Amino acid sequence: MKSLESTILNEGKVLSETVLKVDSFLNHQIDPKLMKEMGEEFAARFADAGVTKILTLESSGIAPSVMAGLTMGVPVVFARKRKSLTLLNNLYSAEVHSFTKKETNEISISSDYIKRDDVVLVIDDFLANGQAVLGLMDIIEQSGAALAGVGIVIEKGFQDGGKMVRDKNIRVESLAIIDSLADGKVTFRKEEAKK
Ligand code: 5GP
Repeated sequence: MKSLESTILNEGKVLSETVLKVDSFLNHQIDPKLMKEMGEEFAARFADAGVTKILTLESSGIAPSVMAGLTMGVPVVFARKRKSLTLLNNLYSAEVHSFTKKETNEISISSDYIKRDDVVLVIDDFLANGQAVLGLMDIIEQSGAALAGVGIVIEKGFQDGGKMVRDKNIRVESLAIIDSLADGKVTFRKEEAKK
């Protein structure tokens, strides 16, 4: 998605060869116009998938997911990273090791919000080693619902997650794929290489 790529180039900060900081529009401050465009793009890419629900992970997956849910006319459920007093019983949970925080969280959702007859689209902000997506897929499996696919805002194509998930025959749609963060520079995957 061109507008996302240019925002990454203008505002993204390469913190290391593996970490990109995008706090100015996605991970801290949120750019609603860009989120809306991204939501519409996810909706267009998964228009034929029969999606009934979107599942994401708090907190940075919520904004693009809500915009996609608004366009697709489906509810958005976000998995919580911390147990809450109001989220105690009938949970689906999975362990997720965070790439950026180097800690393992138990993520949970209430079983009230994903049912066996749901067709679920997973959305997240980044795809790195795929742990977050695997955790969300684990939760969908526990619920007995079907997985429509995975929508990612920024995929780091030089890490293993994208290949690992696609190798399971799961459809992954990433709005920007970064091939390298070497020398402090963001290099995107060329259109033809995405096919
Ligand atoms: P994974 O589980 O695929 O290894 O990592 C995905 C999660 O880690 C995302 O939910 C995101 O929060 C975080 N993450 C991974 N890589 C980056 C990065 O380069 N920059 C930022 N801001 N977050 C990242």
